[in-house]
Amino acid sequence: MLNLWYKNAVIYCVDVETFMDSNGDGIGDFGGLADRLDHIEALGATCIWLLPFYPTPNRDNGYDVTDFYTVDPRLGTLGDFVAFTHAAHDRGFRVIIDLVANHTSIDHPWFQEARRNPNSRYRDWYVWSKEKPKDIHEGVVFPGVQDTIWTYDEVAQAWYMHRFYKHQADLNITNPEVREEIEKVMGFWLQLGVSGFRLDAVPFLIEYRGILAEDKPDQDPHEYLNELRTFISWRRAEAMLLAEANITMDQVDEYFGASGDRLHMIFNFMLNQNLFLALSRKDGDPVRRVMAQTPAIPPKSQWASFLRNHDELDLGRLSDPEREEVFSAFGPAPEMRAYERGIRRRLAPMLGGDERRIKQAFSLMFALPGTPVLWYGDEIGMGEDLSLQERNSVRTPMQWADEPNAGFSTGPAERLVRPVVSEGAFDYRRVNVSAQHDLDGSLMSTLQRLIRTRRACPEVGWGRCQILDAAETSVLALRYDWRGGTILILHNLADRAVEVQVALEGISQLRPLFSNEDDRAMCDATKPIPLDGYGYRWFRAQGERR
Ligand code: MG
Repeated sequence: MLNLWYKNAVIYCVDVETFMDSNGDGIGDFGGLADRLDHIEALGATCIWLLPFYPTPNRDNGYDVTDFYTVDPRLGTLGDFVAFTHAAHDRGFRVIIDLVANHTSIDHPWFQEARRNPNSRYRDWYVWSKEKPKDIHEGVVFPGVQDTIWTYDEVAQAWYMHRFYKHQADLNITNPEVREEIEKVMGFWLQLGVSGFRLDAVPFLIEYRGILAEDKPDQDPHEYLNELRTFISWRRAEAMLLAEANITMDQVDEYFGASGDRLHMIFNFMLNQNLFLALSRKDGDPVRRVMAQTPAIPPKSQWASFLRNHDELDLGRLSDPEREEVFSAFGPAPEMRAYERGIRRRLAPMLGGDERRIKQAFSLMFALPGTPVLWYGDEIGMGEDLSLQERNSVRTPMQWADEPNAGFSTGPAERLVRPVVSEGAFDYRRVNVSAQHDLDGSLMSTLQRLIRTRRACPEVGWGRCQILDAAETSVLALRYDWRGGTILILHNLADRAVEVQVALEGISQLRPLFSNEDDRAMCDATKPIPLDGYGYRWFRAQGERR
């Protein structure tokens, strides 16, 4: 039996080590996370996505794994994981976890065995070359920080491939033993109660690069996605794969599968980059353009929408002049940028701390076709710490209260996994959960209302989306229809007030659901609708006009 819960979910992403510390060692842990489920529940999210929590030397925020079958002892035990999952299920949450199948840490026992012993079964679990490959500088993922994708290993006396940092050796997914092991890992966590996986680096996972031509199986690499899908669906009907795949629109079919039989969900990186271009221009055209280019996807498939995440805001798919526009609007200083393509800042500071714009950005993201995904801390408008390396700038501890260490930990400040933001406009003494909790008009309570509204509009998750002509290019007008219900959502990206008239066939009255103003009066669908600067209004169509 199919379970399509992800079509209309609200996903909240947590990094366990920076969310809540329950034992005072300065490191967030599963006990702390279980303790703070109240917050995620109050917000209204329905699914929790955990960043990697596996044992790790932590050179890449846990994406460098040394054991896929347990919990990093700094974060707790496997028992603590199960206790957390149980508590989350009790409150009706689903839990999905990050799966890093493209590579392991070079400290992983598999790699250690592989480098030492050429006859080991693990040797062929990685990608090797006896000769120095010709193209070692081509295709680095972190330009400016990473120099090559091949590194010579003295012990193995061979070069190993690493699409990412040199401490992360790529697994050879053409090896059937590796595929079997990845399935075992997924089966293990499904058995412990997770509802799916956020699959890391999918385009790199399925590439055959570096694997000698004669060893290449004679098949389309995307077929591996069918294998993964089949495996998890057989194990658990509701199991879902959410892919990190920064792909172009012509690749969409290959990743979802023509009949929706590959990845369930894909992060919509194209829409994300154009959304920030639209915000920087205060104009709806970039969003309209990318939505018009987006192919229809199978009914079982779904996009994941997001504003910011745990990585840099990747603008690599924009043209050079477009990227410069976003850079100058939201990341003007060189230290705000990363990898020659992105911005390593959180949402609130990018929008100058202007609550009207922050709230509108969230409203817009929730109004786009797909399932919304939130990055912890953005719901209260946390800022970044640019003194931290690379993407760690946006991974500072959750700001719970105006208490020592922002209420994140009772340990000494110098032992915290990362310092809390404690200066400037986003200082934890000003920006924290307890200051916004139950406070009308706060960013957090606006997010709560937005999430409630979005969950009451299944049309957005399930329905057909139409872009309506609003005459004003600053206004994005979206209409959703599903099972007799119609939702109209208007956003004015400009800072000046406008009035728009949209053609709404068969609709006479609009009932307000959510807006930047607390307006409850019915709206005449045949008359122009006023929108404030940075204003947004959600309506449900009422009554038929015949
Ligand atoms: Mg701890």
